[in-house]
Amino acid sequence: MTFVLFGATGDLAKRKIFPALYNLFMDGKMPDSFSIVGVGRREWSDQTFQSHVEESVHTFSRRIINDASNMKTFLQAFRYSPLDVTKSDEYQSLLETVQQQEKNLSIPENRLFYLSVSPEFVDAITSNIKQSGLGTVKGWKRLIVEKPFGHDLTSARELNEKLSRTFEEEEMYRIDHYLGKPMVQNLESLVYTNPLLRAIWNKDHIVNVQITASEVVGVEERAGYYDRAGAIRDMVQNHMLQMVMMTAMQISKKGAEEVNDEKRKVMESLRPLQKEDVAANVIRGQYGPGEIKGEPVTAYENEPGVSPSSKNDTFIAARLWIDNDFWAGVPFYIRTGKRMQEKSTRIVVEFKNPLSAETAPNRLTIDISPSEGVSLQLNMKNPLNNQIEPVSIDFSANAKDVPEAYELLLFGALRGDPTFFAHWKEVELSWEWVQPILDAFEEDLVPLHLYRSGSMGPEASYQLLQEDGFKWLDHE
Ligand code: NAD
Repeated sequence: MTFVLFGATGDLAKRKIFPALYNLFMDGKMPDSFSIVGVGRREWSDQTFQSHVEESVHTFSRRIINDASNMKTFLQAFRYSPLDVTKSDEYQSLLETVQQQEKNLSIPENRLFYLSVSPEFVDAITSNIKQSGLGTVKGWKRLIVEKPFGHDLTSARELNEKLSRTFEEEEMYRIDHYLGKPMVQNLESLVYTNPLLRAIWNKDHIVNVQITASEVVGVEERAGYYDRAGAIRDMVQNHMLQMVMMTAMQISKKGAEEVNDEKRKVMESLRPLQKEDVAANVIRGQYGPGEIKGEPVTAYENEPGVSPSSKNDTFIAARLWIDNDFWAGVPFYIRTGKRMQEKSTRIVVEFKNPLSAETAPNRLTIDISPSEGVSLQLNMKNPLNNQIEPVSIDFSANAKDVPEAYELLLFGALRGDPTFFAHWKEVELSWEWVQPILDAFEEDLVPLHLYRSGSMGPEASYQLLQEDGFKWLDHE
């Protein structure tokens, strides 16, 4: 297998991709013989590239590195090919490097292309892969693309159409790194393998589902991208909707096909929002000044690179309805934002409570990051005072040395397992659902609520749940 990495001198490659490849190698999950060809604009030699890879692995790998001989073997697989990805005539030398390594190492013509580059280059690279012959293989070829996949529904469709000229849908692996998180990958098994949960995973027993992905950081150095994207594109269209799909899907057998079909069905049942309904179901927020861990922080509009009159959303809360037999009448609430009180991604499932006044509802909490675990809240009698009190049964999955999202994702693509990737249909249906929200924001039909940095978002987000008689179940 040959792994051709476009954007090999970039940040993502350094922080995530090289360490993931190294850990897969050390876990025996790389093919017996493999070649890795890095592509970037800089004029690096193979040696410079290998030193860069080594340093990145030392700095970012989850594994402590104390084995020089394995490292040497690993680094020997790396070659570098300088190339301006927009220049078609430069691809020949890349092809030669790839073929030379295939020949030297007797590797079958199986090529995995990873595009870790700005989205503007994706089209040029894939058509050059085709034109140059890089994509003409006797074995298999696959493409991994990073987010963002389009900026709206139209651009996502255009991008997909262009990629489809070189790669079949089955050959495309669209990364949504939330699908690489171990607890997100676990959702399928959690419900599928526990008849207890499977029996109650529906509208007869569940009153609402809450999915939160909160960050403490602000926009950092990403204002150029983020001020045009907002939380709606950066988080909701992809990660939040993927988590909705993974939570709501109903699978009766295991396997990629089943998961992909069921996720698509969830999206097909998602009640569309009309532009006029957006304000009643979606809360748009932007962080104002406040405090994070006792330190004052500035408002979004004063961040470097942000236009002072920006109406960009740094927070979104929304109510979704899945109009199918399993979930009709059960609201799914999603909430995501920057500069919030805590960094946490979690799913809380609240169960029906016929004794509502007397006891707390049962709830199942799935912590996705930074801690990983599952907890179930039940009611028990406290022998000291005979009162019924909620107690929590906790499983914490914080085992050491758990593979990281990029390892699990890369391993999936290497094996040709598409389970935890975003398929075109899901991506398209997600953009279809999000598009009226983008339009409503654009036309300013939705109020922009300022929230204090260090809070859990604007008051309006709490009101959204109050309308239905619920509240956000935050960490106590
Ligand atoms: P980066 O700017 O650090 O790296 C960009 C890479 O593209 C470099 O290797 C550079 O040499 C290469 N490049 C740029 N123009 C080129 C050209 N004309 N010819 C050849 N190579 C060229 O970006 P990054 O942080 O590594 O992210 C890469 C992409 O991954 C982003 O654009 C984004 O779409 C996506 N992404 C990144 C992250 C992240 O955490 N960094 C997260 C999600 C998605």
